[in-house]
Amino acid sequence: MNGYSSFNGPSTSAIAPAVPGGIDVPLGSTNQPRLLVRNLNHQETTFHLSGVELAYANSLRRVMMADVPTIAIDQVLFIQNTTPIPDEMLAHRMGLVPLISRGVAKGLRYTRDCDCDEGCYYCMVTLKLKVAFRGTEGEKFMRVTSDMLEIVPSPGGPPPPNPYGPPPDLSEDDRQIINNRDSELGQPVGKGQPGVPPILLAKMGKGQEIEIVCKAYKGIAKHHAKWSPLSTVAFEYDPYNKLRHTTHWFETDEHAEWPLSANAMFEQPPDPSQPFDFNAVPSTFYFNAESVNSIPVRSVVEQGLDLLVEGLAGVILAVQKETGVDEDEGEEDAALVEPDLGPNGGQQLDGYGGGAAQGYGGGGGGDGWGGQGGWGGQGSGMSPLRR
Ligand SMILES: [Zn+2]
Repeated sequence: MNGYSSFNGPSTSAIAPAVPGGIDVPLGSTNQPRLLVRNLNHQETTFHLSGVELAYANSLRRVMMADVPTIAIDQVLFIQNTTPIPDEMLAHRMGLVPLISRGVAKGLRYTRDCDCDEGCYYCMVTLKLKVAFRGTEGEKFMRVTSDMLEIVPSPGGPPPPNPYGPPPDLSEDDRQIINNRDSELGQPVGKGQPGVPPILLAKMGKGQEIEIVCKAYKGIAKHHAKWSPLSTVAFEYDPYNKLRHTTHWFETDEHAEWPLSANAMFEQPPDPSQPFDFNAVPSTFYFNAESVNSIPVRSVVEQGLDLLVEGLAGVILAVQKETGVDEDEGEEDAALVEPDLGPNGGQQLDGYGGGAAQGYGGGGGGDGWGGQGGWGGQGSGMSPLRR
């Protein structure tokens, strides 16, 4: 018994589907994780992760939510704001606008790692919002939306290419950032896309105006939720509650008051004649992740897995450094199990009606000084990224 009891069936997909015509969920034992992608589009994905422990599944969920970098507005300079909305409230709303962050992991530097003083091309995207309502016949107010944000060049960009002279003198790090930078980096999500309603930032009356400059930095949601690439990420396990990890409170009929989730069709229903298995542990997790569209959700999952591996490698190295023991020494014959990709090398994961499995493959409150302008951080007057 290695912690994976017969609860979820054998590690092959030989078991009969729980529902006639249903999907036969591949299961993996320890060290044989499997991924089945049920649904995948630009914004949302549903996948089954099996053959891992609960702690691993939860780590993946937390890493995707809080460690995958994006960019978000963090400092706002108020040049003019004559609307009834206070500067701080508007600055907060600016911070929550999702910005396109594709390739930001390699296409932008954290500002704390940059040599510049106040943000530059390599660590910052600058956006400007300048709008005034002069009054139109029949209209009492104007909607200020995220579509009105314009990207302006940040200082210190790369020199223009000179076809007659030597290539510009750039460090390897700078060159990598230029090569990986997305052409739309920092653009508000949905801007100019028909069918995507823009985000309402403020409403202006006649004669009112807003002029602000916003600095968007790279960050992660551990510092502030505005940097999260996902609006939803959750997983369910044990839809029949066979493990009794939860207690259903009910008035008269438990089954009527707690209907089964859609994931129940992927598992065998409990057999009342069998005794309770005290050694059973969950091994299949039904994930659902929804992106705010700053990064495609597939990229968020892939980056989450990479970050998890990176973090664990850091722990291994730290332990080796501390103990002076290399765990690989003398372990050539250790029982390292090759990942079981099924009879067709993983291809069987295709055709489940949802794309191929590719799994491993502030708004800093501005201290606007009444139109004089002043850079505001999160309360302390300094961005948490700069502290
Ligand atoms: Zn910089």
